[in-house]
Amino acid sequence: MDEPPLAEVGPGAEPERVKILLVDDNPDNLLALEAVLQRPDYELVRATSGEEALKRVLHDEFALILLDVAMPILDGFQTAALIRQRRKARRIPIIFVSAMMQEVAHVFEGYEVGAVDYLLKPFDSHALSAKVKVFVERYRQGRELERQERALRRLERRERLQLESLYDVTFEEAPVGIGHASVTGRWMRVNQRLLDIAGRPREEILRLTLPEIVVTQDRGSILEDIHAILSGQAQKRHGEYRFLRADGSTVWTALTLSLLRDRDRKPVQLTIVEDITEEKRLAASLEAAEARFARLSESGLIGIVYERADGVVLDANEAFLSMIGRSRDELEAGQIHMRELTPPEYDEADGHARAELRDHGIARPYEKELVRADGGRTAVLVGCAAFAPPDQGVIGFAVDVTDRKHIEQERARVVRELRDAVRARDDFLSLAAHELRTPLTPLVMQISNLLSLAREHKVPSDADWLVKQVEPIDRALNRLRRLVGTLLDASRAVGELRLERVELDLANLVREIVERTRGDMERAGCDVTVRTESVVGRWDRTHLEQLVGNLLSNAMKYGARKPIEVDVEQDAGLARLSVRDHGIGIAPEDQQRIFERFERLVPVRHYGGLGVGLWIVRQIVLAHGGRTWVESTPGEGARFVVELPR
Ligand code: ADP
Repeated sequence: MDEPPLAEVGPGAEPERVKILLVDDNPDNLLALEAVLQRPDYELVRATSGEEALKRVLHDEFALILLDVAMPILDGFQTAALIRQRRKARRIPIIFVSAMMQEVAHVFEGYEVGAVDYLLKPFDSHALSAKVKVFVERYRQGRELERQERALRRLERRERLQLESLYDVTFEEAPVGIGHASVTGRWMRVNQRLLDIAGRPREEILRLTLPEIVVTQDRGSILEDIHAILSGQAQKRHGEYRFLRADGSTVWTALTLSLLRDRDRKPVQLTIVEDITEEKRLAASLEAAEARFARLSESGLIGIVYERADGVVLDANEAFLSMIGRSRDELEAGQIHMRELTPPEYDEADGHARAELRDHGIARPYEKELVRADGGRTAVLVGCAAFAPPDQGVIGFAVDVTDRKHIEQERARVVRELRDAVRARDDFLSLAAHELRTPLTPLVMQISNLLSLAREHKVPSDADWLVKQVEPIDRALNRLRRLVGTLLDASRAVGELRLERVELDLANLVREIVERTRGDMERAGCDVTVRTESVVGRWDRTHLEQLVGNLLSNAMKYGARKPIEVDVEQDAGLARLSVRDHGIGIAPEDQQRIFERFERLVPVRHYGGLGVGLWIVRQIVLAHGGRTWVESTPGEGARFVVELPR
């Protein structure tokens, strides 16, 4: 610091000594002046001629010159004129001292007012010192002002320097790349960050232009931007460009171009560069993630729903909307609430899910139903995850499991049926064993009886006796044969029936069978009435015999020893056979299932049977393209009807 700071030059400080030049060829006059002006803060310098005065002025700085007008060689005016020619002394005020009024009268014409004055000899010492004091004061003020100005300028310079160095540091340290280029595009100054982004050393960058450091594909548009700002079309241009680095890699940058002017008003191209590679990468991966999610959302494979913390559905994909049968307009109007979509019986499951969401942020998948707008329901598998913080709502998925539910139900039905079938078969086996044993017992007894008689040679030779002995054997064997036949039929799969059609009259066939079973009828206590009209058709004789036999034996078995009516009639193109009894009858809800295999309504203790008779009847009727049914009131008997196309 070569000069004192401003604050030290203020009121209270010692006044500065100022120099006053006294010019007079007469030493007495000089002495007189000195006597009057003698003061500690004045330094009085004397000159005895104009020439000397000029010399003094060259060497020293004076606050004031007192100049005698009447001097030899150079008089006062000439001296003053010469002093005025010197740049340094031009502004020094001059007081001309003269004995004659006329001499000084025109003084003011040639000089600036304020810079010059005059004094008449003999002078009044008070007036002189007062005058001098005024000038000295003025000089001091001027000096003071100058000093202040100088100090200010110094301060300004210091601040500017500080600012400049601050700017330099900022420029260098800036987290964005900054570069100045001339209008020709040549880089003049670039900061470290720009070098880092461009991936090139400073000396290389300074040999290149901006378009030369971007990838070829981007060159055209950056040239356009540069042209726009240089031509004044735009104040600023912003764009995204790829820099080609020395190692061949590229970086995405956000670039701002503008035009500045330097101190000399020369245009400078300002380039500000930010590395946005990471943002680009993030944006791209975000976009890809969004696209993947969108694909899933649009695929219709799963419903996706976004609900607010209070349960209002804010967004949902089409798949979800179709599961609940609601429109996008309703969704956008905020009219869909999760609560309304849940049937009350799932409140508990939903409660569990909410607790899980609260505690773990997710609710594991569970099955429920969604209520559709039309009141129907969609079976779904749902799961959801809460956003953090929880007031950000919940995102959930729903998979329509209606089909799977159907399959499950179907599977359960099949399992149930299979289980029933297995049980029925077990029942059937024990029934079959029971049934087979029934005729076997008298058969064995009768045969062993005959055998022991034969061994003892007690067998009478008359035929009547023999017939009597063999008849029960024959009946038992016949019954066994029928049973075995039925067993065989029962074991056959549906549809395996083969028909051998022959032309026959159903009326004749029915009468024959009734005749054949009349003995059994009588034993069962049933009186049979047959009403027939001849109906000829092409049917399988053996199977029809079996059919009629089964219906008659049921009528006997369940007919409660009451009369049986058998009718055969013709109706349009078909034959109708009906067998009517007045026995226990069949409840309406059972009238269908008795035609199924192994279906029985009665306990085996009271009524023997394998539960396949009516099933066989139906198989035979179906094979002939006909139909069969039962009409009955429980307790009042049953009428079995068979219709066969002819
Ligand atoms: P089952 O050998 O048991 O008689 P069916 O298939 O012939 O087998 O008959 C099935 C079931 O239908 C019987 O067990 C019985 O409960 C009922 N049923 C059949 N015919 C009659 C009928 N005429 N009256 C009342 N119930 C009958």
